[in-house]
Amino acid sequence: MTKRVILLEEGTAEMKGLMGSKGADLAELIHAGWSVPAGFVVTTECCREFCTRLGHLSGEGEEEIINAIRHLEQQTGKFFGHSENPLLLAVRTDQDRASATATQSLLNVGLNDVTVEGLARQTGDRLYALQCYLDYLEEYGQLVYAIPSEFFTKISSHVKGRDETELELTITEFKYLIEGEGRNPFPQDVQIQFKEAVRAVYHSQRIKASRSQDEIMRKSYYISSEQSAPVLIQTMMHGKCGESSGTGTIYTCNPLTGEKGITGQYVPTGNASQTDHSLERLRNDEPELYTSLLEIGSQLETHKGEVQEITFVIESGALYVVQTQPARLSSTATLRSTVDFVHEGLLTKEDALLRIEPAHITEVLKQHYTDSNSEASNGHLPIQIQPVTNDECPAYNNSDSLLSADLQLLLNWADEVKELKVLANIDHPLDARTSRLLGAEGIGLCRTENMLLSPARLPFVQKMILADSESERRRGLERLLPMQQSDFEQIFEAMDGYPVTIRLLDSPLHELLPDLGVLEKRREWLQAEEWQEKKDHQIELEELERVIRRVSELHEHNPTLGQQACRLSTVFPEIVDMQLEAIFRAAVKGIRQGWWVRPEIMIPQIGHVHELQVMRDLVDHVADQVLGEEKRHCHYRVGAMIEAPRAALTATHIARQADFFSFGTDELTEMTFGYSRHEAEKRLLLLQRDTDSRTVTNNPFHVLDIEGVGQLIEMAVVQGRIRKPNLKTGICGENVIDLESITFCHRIGLDYVSCLPEQIPYARIAAAQAAI
Ligand code: PEP
Repeated sequence: MTKRVILLEEGTAEMKGLMGSKGADLAELIHAGWSVPAGFVVTTECCREFCTRLGHLSGEGEEEIINAIRHLEQQTGKFFGHSENPLLLAVRTDQDRASATATQSLLNVGLNDVTVEGLARQTGDRLYALQCYLDYLEEYGQLVYAIPSEFFTKISSHVKGRDETELELTITEFKYLIEGEGRNPFPQDVQIQFKEAVRAVYHSQRIKASRSQDEIMRKSYYISSEQSAPVLIQTMMHGKCGESSGTGTIYTCNPLTGEKGITGQYVPTGNASQTDHSLERLRNDEPELYTSLLEIGSQLETHKGEVQEITFVIESGALYVVQTQPARLSSTATLRSTVDFVHEGLLTKEDALLRIEPAHITEVLKQHYTDSNSEASNGHLPIQIQPVTNDECPAYNNSDSLLSADLQLLLNWADEVKELKVLANIDHPLDARTSRLLGAEGIGLCRTENMLLSPARLPFVQKMILADSESERRRGLERLLPMQQSDFEQIFEAMDGYPVTIRLLDSPLHELLPDLGVLEKRREWLQAEEWQEKKDHQIELEELERVIRRVSELHEHNPTLGQQACRLSTVFPEIVDMQLEAIFRAAVKGIRQGWWVRPEIMIPQIGHVHELQVMRDLVDHVADQVLGEEKRHCHYRVGAMIEAPRAALTATHIARQADFFSFGTDELTEMTFGYSRHEAEKRLLLLQRDTDSRTVTNNPFHVLDIEGVGQLIEMAVVQGRIRKPNLKTGICGENVIDLESITFCHRIGLDYVSCLPEQIPYARIAAAQAAI
């Protein structure tokens, strides 16, 4: 038989699925001998009946609820709706705080114009009873009728003091407001209140506390949800009135820092306006109750392996736990407590790793950097990558402590279980050092064009490109060679012991050329009559004509699909020669220093195996020359950057010539979808209606399109490894940074993922999560 209602004392830890975690926790506390306000859980099934039948429960459902309320009446000696001795209820969602979205509780259900006087008699405090009624009306109006809180505030802000007459007046106005806005009078019938409260609390779980909440509440009131939690009903405790009473909340560790030890606050009766709400006060006034709280906190935390937030009430000297739930913690506190739990044997390392989310890492990195560089940093991460605008060092901090101790430990544990290696994408030699500090196990993509085309070097590159003869061009390259070689030396040094994947120049031709429009404007200016006699101007004009002619010759109609990447070497083979010479000379220098150097030369935008074969021959040729001259041996690899779908489709052939495949998933996504990463948002608008497809709801340039691009990758890996079982494979596109994408990479057996330096810590965690 389906159970619709479960009394707390009937529950067990195993019934968490049915009762929700809060209900099951309270049940456990009862069995452990602690006091908990009497209560029951309305199961999800029963809540759904409430909602789908417009408030009418089946006969059995109705009876179960009536019996449960009767049971509470017997336990408390109070009666629901009774004028003299009313039982009041708290209706709460059983969803814990971490997953909750909006206010999800209604307190003092059962108050009306008559029972409020009963409460006044029970507590001996009419002012308190009226205040409870007022608060209840406001919460009821907001939750049941979605009346904005500002409407209530507008009325109550006129109330200057808090005497009984004023409260009574405000209560009347609140009731008018509810009747006007909710189009129904506030129900004096406590049974109706109860049903509405359960229904509203149940629904509020799914509704984000956003501006559109009102609309959603009105329109989708009767929609049910598969993922909702049950609703918890408890008798109200009145810790806010009477002697030896009070309310409070404790955390089993500091929610900001994660430091061990109980923190929280306690508001004794009649003391709400005083500032001392410290637990210290409770420790002094009620030492036994304080010790009980410590015991409860420690038991719950040990049992659950999670920091708890415990709400309690002290009523006439007796302690009641109202609810306990996982505490909402800062990222620093999450990491600290998770590490502590592993040390205490409450969690396995694997469970600890599974708790870490991307935001934890980002926040902790930021916080750690701010703390350790509070004067210099303004909170900016040293590892934020900025385009390098000149050859001066960017503002990186080479401190060895980019990671806090807790994060470092978690990352070490991640490295023990993960199978994917995490490499870095870099644009500057200094990025290599930062990446090592963050745990990169090599460089997966070194963008040489970003180094060559820095403003300080671009004029040399352009001069060389615009030269008329090969010998002139080679002279230009001789000046660039030491600059590139120095880049690689620095990278090899930082990555001593790890592979460095260097992508040969991958720029569209037009990015290497001066702007034709600017040149033509200058020509116009020089051609003006007043300069006709000036000799130096005429010399400049002659050179300008030559440059304009050369730029026009090199002009392409569709530069992004033109002579770029590996095809650039057919136009300027000398540039690739220079880059390769710089790589091997730097490698030899490093080897002589005693470093372990492994260059992996990546050929961009391969579409046909023959292109790779030609480029491979070129690499081998330069390597033979340099290494022969230097009389040194250097292990190196040559691989294909797979960005064109054709390369993925012909992976078996490409693998013949490749030591590795690196999937450039940004460009592969562009070519597979047929649109640019910069235009994606506009293109996606058409697709994004009425769908929950991951690829469409997320921009595929932000998270990998597993069902499309992913399929190409998987196929290429399988085909490539049929030809070459030890083929190294990885991803260097920057859309593989979320757990699902990284899990996909793990599943299809890639060797590595390569990402921006600041993404390395989370990628290490996600790679471990994928492996667990
Ligand atoms: C890619 O295409 O995935 C890639 C990493 O290359 P780019 O340098 O164009 O981002």
